[in-house]
Amino acid sequence: MGLLDGKKGVILGIANDHSIAWGIAQAMHREGAELGFTYVGEALERRVRPLAQSVGAALVEPCDVGSDEQIEALMARIREVYGRIDMLVHAIAFANRDELKGAYLNTTRTGFLLAMEISAYSLTALVKAAGDLLQPGASVLTLTYHGSQQAVPNYNVMGVAKAALEASVRYLATDLGPRGVRVNAISAGPIRTLAAGGIAGFRSMYRHAAEVAPLRRNVTIEDVGNTAAWLCSDQASGITGEILYVDAGLNIIGVSIGED
Ligand code: NAP
Repeated sequence: MGLLDGKKGVILGIANDHSIAWGIAQAMHREGAELGFTYVGEALERRVRPLAQSVGAALVEPCDVGSDEQIEALMARIREVYGRIDMLVHAIAFANRDELKGAYLNTTRTGFLLAMEISAYSLTALVKAAGDLLQPGASVLTLTYHGSQQAVPNYNVMGVAKAALEASVRYLATDLGPRGVRVNAISAGPIRTLAAGGIAGFRSMYRHAAEVAPLRRNVTIEDVGNTAAWLCSDQASGITGEILYVDAGLNIIGVSIGED
């Protein structure tokens, strides 16, 4: 018996097999879920389709979350193929690369709005468009990072967008709770992915995390995937509006000092 037997999930945010979304897909597939995927543009379609096929996905659709039309088209297709969504996974973020280095103060108006739109508002847009596809017992999950709570060098406008995303999780959880729909976020420790590669100084941050985290290692997409599968399962039926850290304990450390 899998944790997600009979459940249907849609996962947005697979760029390649290093993506956190792919770790989540593998864990959900292992637990018995039927999965659908989205991609942005032809180049990514070529990478996403084989991955989707390897877990028997019945739905692989384009969806740029900057477009209401594409979001609507995705929901129409989901209605046709699955008729409902038990798990909606949002693993999407974007900011201009030149605003993920140096001073936050240099963030431009357009860069700020773009990061907020794609990384924060898109969760609300998706949930709104999903409407009654999200039936009682369904679960919405997004991915965040601790740069929303504390200043992290170079994370800048993405930290501000993640703070908005985390607040959105609480408001959406409040809106959807009476319908029996849960909304949560996983705050992952640093993982080497395409998106992470865009943040200046990521490599040293990644190394440092493994040195100071209580578990003395970095987390993997398998760690995040396993937690995601559980959090979206009926085993976690009493949890909503939460930001759950999967970071080997890194966020609990206030000050780290070297060995004497
Ligand atoms: P990733 O593999 O690069 O995935 C990011 C995904 O976002 C890509 O599939 C990307 O597609 C998609 N995306 C960007 N703009 C989009 C748009 N307009 N419409 C639809 N999709 C769009 O990186 P990842 O690290 O797994 O990121 C997944 C999530 O985890 C993000 O929210 C990220 O902030 C979060 N997270 C990551 C870490 C980490 O250390 N890696 C830690 C904590 C949280 P394109 O490639 O086409 O842009």
